[in-house]
Amino acid sequence: MLRTSILAILLFSFSALTAQDNTMQTFVSGLMAKMTLDEKLGQLNLPGAGDITTGQARSSDIAKKISEGKVGGLFNIKSVAKIKEVQKIAVEQSRLKIPLIFGMDVIHGYETEFPIPLGLSCTWDMAEVEQSARIAATEASADGICWTFSPMVDIARDPRWGRIAEGNGEDPYLGSQCAAAMVKGYQENLKGNTDIMACVKHYALYGAAEAGRDYNTTDMSLTRMFNEYLPPYKAAVDAGVGSVMASFNDVNGIPATANRFLQTDVLRKRWGFKGFVVTDYTGINELVSHGLGDLQAVSALALKAGIDMDMVGEGFLTTLKKSLQEGKVTMADIDRACRRVLEAKYKLGLFKDPYKYCNEQRAATEIFTPANRAAARKIASDCFVLLKNQGNILPLKKSGTIAVVGPLGNNRINMVGTWAVATDASKAVSLMDGLKEAAGNGVNIVYSQGSNLDYDSLFEQRAEMFGKGIPQDHRPATAIIQDALAVAAKADVIVAALGESDEMSGESSSRSNIGIPQAQQDLLAALLKTGKPVVLVLFTGRPLAIKWENDEVPAILNVWFGGTEAGHAIADVLFGDVNPSGKLTTTWPQNVGQVPLYYNHMNTGRPLEGPWFQKFRSNYLDVSNDPVYPFGFGLSYAHFRYSGLTLSSSRLSGNQHLTATVTVTNDGAVDGKEVVQLYIRDLVGSITRPVKELKGFQKIGLKAGESRNVSFTITPDDLKFYNNELKYDWEPGDFSIMIGGNSRDVLSANVNWTK
Ligand code: BGC
Repeated sequence: MLRTSILAILLFSFSALTAQDNTMQTFVSGLMAKMTLDEKLGQLNLPGAGDITTGQARSSDIAKKISEGKVGGLFNIKSVAKIKEVQKIAVEQSRLKIPLIFGMDVIHGYETEFPIPLGLSCTWDMAEVEQSARIAATEASADGICWTFSPMVDIARDPRWGRIAEGNGEDPYLGSQCAAAMVKGYQENLKGNTDIMACVKHYALYGAAEAGRDYNTTDMSLTRMFNEYLPPYKAAVDAGVGSVMASFNDVNGIPATANRFLQTDVLRKRWGFKGFVVTDYTGINELVSHGLGDLQAVSALALKAGIDMDMVGEGFLTTLKKSLQEGKVTMADIDRACRRVLEAKYKLGLFKDPYKYCNEQRAATEIFTPANRAAARKIASDCFVLLKNQGNILPLKKSGTIAVVGPLGNNRINMVGTWAVATDASKAVSLMDGLKEAAGNGVNIVYSQGSNLDYDSLFEQRAEMFGKGIPQDHRPATAIIQDALAVAAKADVIVAALGESDEMSGESSSRSNIGIPQAQQDLLAALLKTGKPVVLVLFTGRPLAIKWENDEVPAILNVWFGGTEAGHAIADVLFGDVNPSGKLTTTWPQNVGQVPLYYNHMNTGRPLEGPWFQKFRSNYLDVSNDPVYPFGFGLSYAHFRYSGLTLSSSRLSGNQHLTATVTVTNDGAVDGKEVVQLYIRDLVGSITRPVKELKGFQKIGLKAGESRNVSFTITPDDLKFYNNELKYDWEPGDFSIMIGGNSRDVLSANVNWTK
């Protein structure tokens, strides 16, 4: 009976969906029948908004193009008033009145900024990840935006690459969970006026740029691609993402923007993607520099590969007509792309109501609200990672004198992080603001900058693009440090606020040295010499090489760039009002020479087993293979002990399920949250398999003294991988099941699983 009703419901929803699809297709076909070739090409064109300002939009060059039907959408135009005005031109002055789609890089918040995505992933809390996207969508849609260029889900194992800040770290499983949560948060069902279309990017493998240099070549085996780099993009597609952005890089010799294998064979044929693909900024034009031909040739290549919309470069707009006449592309190629763009507009409901997202009332009441800021504060405090806490220096007492020292200690505009384009960064909460507010009158909080960002002022200029500077003190470094030491002399504890400025990561911000800049390291060394307790509050958009700091500094709290509420959230954690629970989603190396260093590596034929160094084993003469902090690592003011890993069976066959259970005990003095992590190793395979792979996690709360059994159900689906023929399946044999609080410290037991 139950089965029959479920079947009936499924059939009903399937036919309802098909009916919706049919209505959409009939509508779009009807519209396309009326369109000229030029109008179709116009739909494929996505210019930036340029300098449109309210009241002047009508006379701008873009406005002329819109009224001639040469524009499909606009991006990076901010404010509901401007968007309404521009939309009016499209729906009142263009021949067919086709509405525009308005996009923006809403990457980790709109005006209320959340932590940078790398930080957000360290919450390991998918409800919070989704909530951040939902709030971002609510705010952006209240201001006229219906399309965001997010989530960015590029797997990255190279911290030299500045854009590691924008993604979810190194792991395909966790990255996939984050991707799905973000898509859900942005889109919901695309029906309501708070639902905006997501665009998963940068497809594909942008994060594998050689040497961590932005826009650089990627080249990798198909098995690595499918097992390790593609899963998060696929997860976004499975979650129903409406659009995909092609990446800048070349992939095995063919730039992603012209790569038919990626854009059609994998994306559409294997994964069944039904939305549209947009290039990245001037992605088509850059094919000329990649060496694939002139603008006409590369525009045709991109269209043929499966690209639908051309961001900024106007290669489609200006050359496809000629290519059609010359037989280099077909009308069917152009129609296909045009249909996909129109379908996106249909799905967003823009044909029904082009002003669906233009509600001034919403813009006035739903952006940067106290509730949104409270959520941002909570989420930020959950993403910070406590890296060290020797002698329980943290949490700080709300008494005595605290010296805050360092270039990031009293700075608002550097709190929001890279890609915070819609916010007013000066409204963010600095560490000093946050500490003072939280401490109340009983604590004396003093400040000194102590150093510049770095000694090299030209480096500083490069690292402070977009005007997000840190005040420069032009005196000799020793004098600046002396000031800080004088301030620190009065204090009971020193909080050193050091690290990167917020534009030292993000696009085009690769670094070959990934330490704390030297000027700040020298300051830190001087502070340590005072013999007073020092807490390093570390700001960064990437994993840093901080072996020396980890050896010398008693307490380290990594706070990424926490967004609008950064200062409040850091104060919450420093004072223990929130117990830190973030865990790293990337491996932190000892030095750049170890990079790429990641937990799910292959074993090699000569693994280092036992202590470093061993001749003729896979290791270095000058550094061990160990990271400073492994993937999944993060401390708490509580302490968690793992014991008694048990498996429901040690021999399984076919589709049976395995239950792995471990006891987690909070034997600390305070309540806390712990991320319990499940890893599996496939001990024998037809291809080499990683030494461990994350396959599950649960974030649990435990009261002081509480013990709990935590169970994971494992099915053959968790054992699947792409083999050398790119078939996704599992292979029978022995598996290690590992559970622990990070990827290094695990309990393990083996099972044998036959088919
Ligand atoms: C970036 C994209 C971004 C686009 C539009 C490009 O430079 O690579 O991530 O979405 O610009 O601003």
